[in-house]
Amino acid sequence: MSKVSRRRFLYTASATAAGAIALKGCTAGPNANQSPAASPQAGGAPAVNVGGGEGPETTTVRIGYIPIFESTPLIIAQEKGFFAKYGMTDVSVVKQAAWGALRDNLVIGSQGGGIDGAQFQMPMPYLIHEGKITTANQKIPMYVLLQTSTQGNGIAIAGKHAGKNIHLDLTRAKPYFDQLKAAGTPFTAAYTFPAVNQELWIRYWLAAGGIDPDEDVKLIAVPPPQTVANMKTGTMDGFSTGDPWPYRIVQENIGFMAALTAQMWPDHPEEYFGMRADWADQHPKATKALLKGIMEAQQWCDQPENRTEVIQILSGRQYFNLSEEILTPPMKGEYNLGDGQPAINDIKMGPLFWKDAKGSVSYPYKSHDTWFLTENIRWGMLPPETDVKALVDTVNREDIWKEAAKEAGIPDADIPTETTRGVERFFDGITFDANDPMAYLRSLKIKKVNV
Ligand code: CA
Repeated sequence: MSKVSRRRFLYTASATAAGAIALKGCTAGPNANQSPAASPQAGGAPAVNVGGGEGPETTTVRIGYIPIFESTPLIIAQEKGFFAKYGMTDVSVVKQAAWGALRDNLVIGSQGGGIDGAQFQMPMPYLIHEGKITTANQKIPMYVLLQTSTQGNGIAIAGKHAGKNIHLDLTRAKPYFDQLKAAGTPFTAAYTFPAVNQELWIRYWLAAGGIDPDEDVKLIAVPPPQTVANMKTGTMDGFSTGDPWPYRIVQENIGFMAALTAQMWPDHPEEYFGMRADWADQHPKATKALLKGIMEAQQWCDQPENRTEVIQILSGRQYFNLSEEILTPPMKGEYNLGDGQPAINDIKMGPLFWKDAKGSVSYPYKSHDTWFLTENIRWGMLPPETDVKALVDTVNREDIWKEAAKEAGIPDADIPTETTRGVERFFDGITFDANDPMAYLRSLKIKKVNV
């Protein structure tokens, strides 16, 4: 441990010194008064530092991802050269074995062989920031910087439960869930990491149907690669995760899909790009350069004519290592839900990366962070006295997103001016207003918090 600390101290000290030298050289150098586009880049790559003054403080960064569609903009930014276009010529986009490994690598940081930033379920960056999910409750200050995607998640159910009305509206399936519980074989469903999106989606869905997720079913955490295997062997009745995994259950005739998250909450917040605050603070220009690269990738991914190439890239061995046949239907919004439900064929019901019916996908609305934290309070994962507003104002850096978007020449019409997207409405008629989370909590029948 002391070795690591010492190494880290040495790294930080030397990085600061190197940064100071680079800055001095830049200011006094021959390019000081030239446009950034004219300055030479390391390695002889063409300099296209689009917008935003001098080049980034570093060109090197390590970013973690999980092989689900939410990581698409990070992979595309790398593969299509959008990071390099904004001066980030040495980005490593590193596959993580599981969400726990992603968290641990983030805690280590790149100087220890880990990562500086990553794709995140929410409110994972907040839980790391507060030391709620780290070893010895170590607090790692974090920033939430951009939303990578909306929708593209679902709830898959084992085929043995077909014909029991386990669909979007669960109210008609309640007697069946009660029957399973009474028989000592409660419905058992999995998510891939506790207290974040995929557990929150399945909890919301169950509770909306009158099923108490803490009393009437068994919820467990299972690593992503085990979800499909456990459904095959019958040890699990359902799971909640990102595409293409739920749809694989239908494709492989293991079961059906009860619901798309796009049906539960159209254009809902899904996963995010976040970074260690120390890295972003030391490298503000590099942070914005990364955001510009991701934003350009998001715009590119949302062009329907590019989706085939997106699928080709994701299917690669170093990324998802899955066939294009598996990835194509959910990436194009084509879901055969199964169990007698009408098929969906609408690209707007699949994952979206830049714009949706409610405006910007990429912009990290504070109102959405507030919903995730409120949902943690609802289920007893965070104490009710948590100062949600103060936490969101510290961790959410929509200001950096805005600066990056302006520097990248994003039209004003695509840059939100409000920190809230307004009142959100769920499929069961419940509404959420980030200005009054208590009203939302009070309106919910099933919850663990007393409000
Ligand atoms: Ca997800």
